[in-house]
Amino acid sequence: MQLSSSFKRPLIIILLGAPGSGKGTQAQRLAKAYGLAHISTGDIFREQIKNGTSIGQKVQAIIQAGQLVSDELVLEMVKERTDRSDCAEGFILDGFPRTAVQAQSFAKQITEQALVLVLCLEVSDEVIIDRAAHRVVCKDCQRVYSQNALKTTGKCDECLGEVKKRPDDAPEVVEERLKIYHEQTQPLIQFYDQQSLLTSFEGNQSKDKLFEEMKKYIDQQVKLFSSSID
Ligand SMILES: [Zn+2]
Repeated sequence: MQLSSSFKRPLIIILLGAPGSGKGTQAQRLAKAYGLAHISTGDIFREQIKNGTSIGQKVQAIIQAGQLVSDELVLEMVKERTDRSDCAEGFILDGFPRTAVQAQSFAKQITEQALVLVLCLEVSDEVIIDRAAHRVVCKDCQRVYSQNALKTTGKCDECLGEVKKRPDDAPEVVEERLKIYHEQTQPLIQFYDQQSLLTSFEGNQSKDKLFEEMKKYIDQQVKLFSSSID
């Protein structure tokens, strides 16, 4: 499905959600459903580093030094990416903006014509910590599973390789990550809420149901704004 021809403005969807909320999966599905570019900051970083651009070299040095990439640099990379032709009809942002400062600067980068929808996936910390505690990954093919869902205990469903837990999924590591997320995102959520752009979704439900709910909401908004500019 593509956007209808009566909808003539860029559609920008910003997905917010804690690490482990499942927003990456939903972003991919929504991008496919609406024919929009899926832009994840992780992918942008990797691409810039791989291509050895001047931004990429800066980013690599920062990451290697264990430091955080500055808002300025992130914004520069996002701008470069969203200026490309595949973003002309809009795009879906996954992992950006992360802070209120980024959101304010980003708002100045985009055309006033754009319909901006901010979708926030609500998943409680307890659920995310619990999911991580049960998560295992195949040593051989890197597929990720919930250990209770495996067909054979301790073995990958696909290649029968040995599955193991990731150090990153340890409860204390996940808790720390969530703490940082909440500190950074609280002002960001307020920023979008004040502009009435934010809509929350219950993230602790089946992936398909969640997708349908978000799609229904986006369709409604698109319809609402289809005829409003001439
Ligand atoms: Zn495997």
